[in-house]
This record gives sequence, C-alpha cells and structure tokens, in this order.
Amino acid sequence: MPLNKIAIITGSSRGIGAETAKLFSEHGYAVCLNYISNDSAADKVKSEILEKGGKCIAVKANVAVAAEVETLFRAVDDEFGPLSVLVNNVGILRKQSRLEAISEDRFIDVLLTNVMSCFLCSKEAVKRMSKKQGGMGGAIVNVSSRASTTGSPNEYVDYAASKGAIDTLTKGLALEVADEGIRVNAVRPGLIYTDMHASGGEPDRVDRLKNRVPMQRGGNAIEVAEAILWLASDKSSYVTGTFVDPAGGL
Ligand code: NAP
Repeated sequence: MPLNKIAIITGSSRGIGAETAKLFSEHGYAVCLNYISNDSAADKVKSEILEKGGKCIAVKANVAVAAEVETLFRAVDDEFGPLSVLVNNVGILRKQSRLEAISEDRFIDVLLTNVMSCFLCSKEAVKRMSKKQGGMGGAIVNVSSRASTTGSPNEYVDYAASKGAIDTLTKGLALEVADEGIRVNAVRPGLIYTDMHASGGEPDRVDRLKNRVPMQRGGNAIEVAEAILWLASDKSSYVTGTFVDPAGGL
C-alpha cells in the first residue's frame, strides 16, 4: 500500500533528528523539520535538503506545548498534505546528578519535553492517519533510549524514567491503533555521538564509556536514522509495538 511520503521529525535541527531528516529526504519523503531555538542549525539542515532537490520546511515549535504542536501539524497539512510518518525524536537531559539533587522544575521540564511532546504529537498524527477517521494510515516511530532499561543511576534517572514512559506509550498506542492502519514502534539507541552529552555536562561521555559497549565503540546518528527509516517504511509492514536497539549490544 503506497503512502504519501510526508514526514514530521521532531527535534531535527541537530543530532539524530537531523540525520533522520536528511536520510528520509534521500528516500523521497517531503520532510518537516522541527526545532525549539537554534535557527542556524535548522537552516543548515534545510538548505542541505533543498540543495539536493528535496522538499523541506522547518517549523520552530516547542512540541511540549499543545498549541505549538497544532501549529506544527497545520503547517504540514497546508504545505505537503496528508502526513504518513511521525518521528517523535525530541529528547533532552540535564546535568549528571543523583536523584536527590534533581529539582522539581527540572523533573517537570524533562518529563514534559520528553513525554508530553510524544503524547501531543502522536495525538495529532493519529487524528490524521487513522483509517477509522478517514485517513490513509501511517507509521509513528518514537526515539526512546537504552536508558529506559538501565535506569541511568547517578546520572539522570529523570531522563531514564521519561524513556520508560515512551516505551509504555509505544506499546499501548500500537495496540490501540493496530487495526486503523497505523504502526507504532520505537528505537532505543545506546551511546551515540551527538551534542546531547554536553547538556549532561560531559561532552566526551561516549568516548569515556565506549569500552563498556560490546562492540567497543560509540554509535553514529546515521546508524540510528537507518533503523528509524526501516520502522517507518513499508519494509517493516508487519512490525508494530516493538523496539529496535541501535546500541552496539548494550
Ligand atoms: P540533540 O543532538 O541534543 O538534539 C536535540 C534536538 O531536539 C535539537 O534539534 C533541539 O532543537 C530539539 N529540541 C529540544 N527540545 C525541543 C522542544 N521542546 N521542541 C522542539 N525541539 C526541541 O539530541 P540527540 O542526541 O540527537 O537525541 C535525539 C533523541 O535521541 C532524543 O530523544 C534522545 O533522548 C535520544 N537518544 C540519544 C542518545 C545519544 O547518545 N545521543 C542515546 C539514546 C537516546 P534546537 O537545535 O533548537 O535546540
């Protein structure tokens, strides 16, 4: 069943989201980039896609806020038409710390950004994709983390718990919409070279920990993007409610 190749990738000005957007474009998708503040990073990704002949818009929106999510999805309706893929990629972490040093504000920020964003964007996607609501079906891919299973002790249990919520949301939503033409899956990356580790206070964290990875190296964003692309594509047409872990064996 060929679908319109139209994708929203949240948090795609940098890191895994940016590589995913570029890869999707190479595979014929019209891509909507999303970011929260870094205009120049988003412009760079958008230019790279347009220069190669791809279709791309970039929408600055905080996807933890319902009104901004609605604006994001309306921009895609107006510019490209019916959405076929949502990649819930936005995720943040804060400075490494034990739980008792984590403030209420930080806990709320991490949970809202990582979980509420996925919840709000998935709602808008299901409304558009569900065959029971006049849509043509589609795929949702959530970007969780191996932290959902390790719990990230002494670093960021708030972040790990948010990813546990994403895993549960993935399973529940997948079952809820399985007979409506929508597949919902997640990737759970391990240690990937991106800017995110600087937000945790340790830019070189991947290199410090890479020897604990069975494959003895950190991963690259493109290696996660390839798994996301597969889960979004018809090549995984009988796969839903499950997880792919690009984590080198972690
Ligand atoms: P990153 O390099 O830090 O990039 C984060 C992206 O999210 C940026 O594009 C940023 O926009 C955007 N963003 C942040 N908050 C946002 C919000 N509220 N609304 C819209 N956009 C927002 O992150 P990454 O390492 O690629 O991580 C991507 C995903 O992979 C996350 O869910 C993360 O938890 C997961 N993951 C990463 C690793 C890893 O080792 N890197 C491992 C496991 C899982 P601006 O550029 O405007 O700031």
